[in-house]
Amino acid sequence: MKFGGTSVGTIERIKAVADQVKAVVDAGHQVAVVVSAMSGTTNQLVQWTREAGAMHDAREYDVVVSSGEQVTVGLLAIALQNIGVEARSWLGWQVAMHTDNIHGGARIESIDTEAMLARLEQGQVAVMAGFQGVAEDNRITTLGRGGSDTSAVALAAALGADRCDIYTDVDGVYTTDPRIVPKATKLDKITFEEMLELASNGAKVLQTRSVAMAMRHGVKLQVLSSFEDLPGTMVVNEDEIMEKNSVSGIAYSVDEAKVTLVGLDDKPGVAANVFSTLADNNVNVDMIVQTAASAPGKTDITFSVNGAELDRASTVLQGIKDELNYNDLLTSEDVCKVSVVGMAMRSQPGVARTMFSTLAEKGINIEVISTSEIKISVLIGREYTELAVRSLHTAFGLDSES
Ligand code: ADP
Ligand code: ASP
Ligand code: MG
Repeated sequence: MKFGGTSVGTIERIKAVADQVKAVVDAGHQVAVVVSAMSGTTNQLVQWTREAGAMHDAREYDVVVSSGEQVTVGLLAIALQNIGVEARSWLGWQVAMHTDNIHGGARIESIDTEAMLARLEQGQVAVMAGFQGVAEDNRITTLGRGGSDTSAVALAAALGADRCDIYTDVDGVYTTDPRIVPKATKLDKITFEEMLELASNGAKVLQTRSVAMAMRHGVKLQVLSSFEDLPGTMVVNEDEIMEKNSVSGIAYSVDEAKVTLVGLDDKPGVAANVFSTLADNNVNVDMIVQTAASAPGKTDITFSVNGAELDRASTVLQGIKDELNYNDLLTSEDVCKVSVVGMAMRSQPGVARTMFSTLAEKGINIEVISTSEIKISVLIGREYTELAVRSLHTAFGLDSES
């Protein structure tokens, strides 16, 4: 059972979570619980590391931002003990949850489960801190924002759990973010592939890596509410779903920025130079378009990057301006990526037509397009985010009846 920030946001909530865990224990299950920090805590900690020093050591960043989870595991263990449930807290290093040493975005390498399994066998509930692990040099690592989902799936896989239940502040996975589209419909089931695309394109209900890990290890993954006792959403294999809509869900991300290199030489090796320079400087590029420029022998390349990486991207490209021989470097942060996702898209034509004509009817200009087998993404002006998501939701027949 994994509980996110809002679900453990107050002492009252932590007590309610303890009751939920007790009910499952009383039903005869062995339970490992993974918790996030109280809502808002991690943001505050990140902010403090920035204020303390712009150029801080990522290892110290991890020491600070991992501390929120230390509080909630202790509090939940106390709350459980107080209602007669035997429980103890586990920090990442105590488990141990071994990761690589990429601080701030570490990957889980292995989990020692022996000690925890022995205690579960004795009837003790394990309450593990999400989001954190330990690197080979014994320093604390964190798994990237939203990483408790990944901690939970990894622990479920390592323990051989029957299921991994992600309890959160919505009662399942919806056709789009229910906070911006009230007509969003709850899905009983969604495929791993679709969930992976939705998560990696901005639906933060599950961290992308948690979905990939569940898929790889065959973990039964469910998303459900920690506030209400309602059926949630199961993430399943494709053969467990009867195909219906061409589009299953819509995601958006405002965490995007656009870069255009104007007037590059139109010759072999130029794109290779641009993107290897970006890669060498750890800039992740997402969408890319190349168009012919107005001048002969010239071309323009536009691409999108994570907003946080925009400064780095433009600095390194300015650094090789002479070598690349471009005319201008344009950047914009006023963009948003909207993606429609659906397995059935592979066999049903016309999804792109519906998407583009819906946006056109609303007067929304498309700046960049990218596709995968089961997804179409567009980059548009940020001010159109909600309008685009809502009108696409209606156009693809996803609005709920009620
Ligand atoms: P937690 O703190 O429990 O990890 P998150 O805030 O990380 O919770 O994720 C839950 C949030 O994800 C919801 O409050 C909702 O606004 C957002 N969300 C985005 N897209 C979707 C979607 N398709 N279905 C459900 N929730 C979504
Ligand atoms: N507390 C961490 C965060 O806010 C991890 C998580 O909530 O999943 O990113
Ligand atoms: Mg989350």
